[in-house]
Amino acid sequence: MSREVVGFIGLGNMGSVLAANLVEAGHAVVAHDALGPQRSPEGAAHVPSVAEVAHRAEVLVLSLPDGTASEQVARAVLDASGRRARCIVDTSTIGVGAARAVAALLAEEKIGYVDAPVSGGVAGARARTLTVMYAGDDGACSRVEPLLAGLSDRRRRVGDRPGMAQALKLANNFLSATTLAATSEAVAFGLAAGLDMATMLDVLNASSGRSAASDDKFPRHVLTGRYAAGFANSLMDKDVRLYLDAAAGQGGPVSVGEAIAAVWRRFAVAEPGADFTRIFPHLSSAAARPPRPSAS
Ligand code: NAD
Repeated sequence: MSREVVGFIGLGNMGSVLAANLVEAGHAVVAHDALGPQRSPEGAAHVPSVAEVAHRAEVLVLSLPDGTASEQVARAVLDASGRRARCIVDTSTIGVGAARAVAALLAEEKIGYVDAPVSGGVAGARARTLTVMYAGDDGACSRVEPLLAGLSDRRRRVGDRPGMAQALKLANNFLSATTLAATSEAVAFGLAAGLDMATMLDVLNASSGRSAASDDKFPRHVLTGRYAAGFANSLMDKDVRLYLDAAAGQGGPVSVGEAIAAVWRRFAVAEPGADFTRIFPHLSSAAARPPRPSAS
């Protein structure tokens, strides 16, 4: 039996690993990234354009930075001559409104759209423990489910309309952004009081202050000084901003959200592109700076 061809667009930190998982699962992968083939996984065929991917594959998986990129790629798929593409699975974090807009655009040409953001980081993608949360109509979801199984072992359909999985992903990343920033401040506080970081983490992780920040990000990336989780601060800044805008648009409570969004915006502006775990040294050094003299 011939293998189904799967298209993959966006081979960055996350996409390069997800595309490799599809190859590993036995799919024939046709891949494209705007920056070229450097990160195309072994066993995938890299092609020079989105149109070429849309010409060769019925189902396309996207792993792109934001909603603008997803919409650009969706338009290029629609414009592709001899298009075979029938369905798009978007694993990017693009927000609720953008997912709905891209789905509506594709629906005009009867192309299905499954909103399928992921959580668990690049290490989780490699270990196949990444959570793929997805939403879409029955037809589109059943069409892509065999392929989602190639991406990760953890999958959960969370809704029947594009945008619902984005809402869950934004809520998740708001919590992740909050615990990482709050843990950074709490650890800086403990260090200044004479505690040692490893001791603090041991005790926090056996206590009620535990979170993915204290039991994963801190031990692996802050304590070791690696700072290589593979997720840029600019992407977390985007995610918290998308969360805040969506929550404010619904009239929801946003007092914590506003404070956290301001923290991540300052970090992204001060150190563009830094690994998001570097928020710990960023907040620590900001605290170490003397207060600015008042204008008066
Ligand atoms: P990245 O910046 O490393 O990769 C994005 C890739 O998309 C780049 O290689 C870029 O060249 C390519 N690209 C951008 N526009 C394009 C276009 N129009 N056509 C073709 N290629 C294009 O980002 P990432 O860390 O891989 O994240 C990708 C998505 O996954 C983001 O939406 C992010 O929020 C989400 N995500 C990432 C992680 C993580 O740990 N890295 C975790 C969960 C979710």
